[in-house]
Amino acid sequence: MHKETAINIRESLSADCSQCFGLCCTALNIVASSDFAINKPAETPCPNLQQDFRCKIHKNLRTQGFKGCTVFDCLGAGQKVSQHTFKGQSWREHPEVSKKMFNVFPVMEQLYEMIAFVAEALTYTISDTLRQRLSEQLEKLQDLTDLEAEQLLAIDMISCRQPVNMLLLETSEYIRSQLSANVFKIKKGKQYRGIDWVGKNLKGKDLRTTDLRGAYLIAANLQNADLRGVDLIGADLRDANISGANLSTSLFLTQMQINSAKGDKQTKLPTYIQPPTHWLSGT
Ligand code: SF4
Repeated sequence: MHKETAINIRESLSADCSQCFGLCCTALNIVASSDFAINKPAETPCPNLQQDFRCKIHKNLRTQGFKGCTVFDCLGAGQKVSQHTFKGQSWREHPEVSKKMFNVFPVMEQLYEMIAFVAEALTYTISDTLRQRLSEQLEKLQDLTDLEAEQLLAIDMISCRQPVNMLLLETSEYIRSQLSANVFKIKKGKQYRGIDWVGKNLKGKDLRTTDLRGAYLIAANLQNADLRGVDLIGADLRDANISGANLSTSLFLTQMQINSAKGDKQTKLPTYIQPPTHWLSGT
């Protein structure tokens, strides 16, 4: 698959709530916390979800204690389940399919997340062999999203994730080595996988090409840090201060991670990530 096609796929992965039956507001459970004002069990509609599947407090989610709702991003899994898997049949009009639909949603979400990472991997300059293997993997994942509900529910997600994860690790090593040697002309960044840097002051740090997979960066101060070429897959960026930070070529960054962090107009992001509106409104 060509780079340009992969760029189009990665950029097309975004939620269209107008085509979804409010699945994130219904299928998932909500635990009362600083992110959610209420407890809500899974497979139950949130009391704020209207008949038309719109949120009645959409404009004031953060001020009403539902910060978590402004962070969530299904990458388009919701509309796929609603319009493709269940062919436009809503759980309100067809309660007999509701349980199945609510169970399929988290499966589709995971498939979409993997598709986003693999498509992103294909947007880089990589070896032909890696490109071929990633392309095949992407095709397999895309095919899975077209399965019937029962078949989706039968997927062994652990076995499905394993080869994807290995490929992404390999791609990350390759890209970070290439960037270090040929673009930044620096020694490849260190491996800090899963490191606990909660609340750590990393202001202005040059972290280029570091491996921060699964790192705990909650409330870390990353103001003006250089995070280009950093692998951030699965890193927890909740409330991390990324004002003025450069993440323009960070690897495997998601909209959810960015929505949960605190940035500003000076934060540089990859093209497939939008600056959250709450950064500018200060809520
Ligand atoms: S508050 Fe609104 S966005 Fe959040 S779960 Fe409820 S209906 Fe959905």
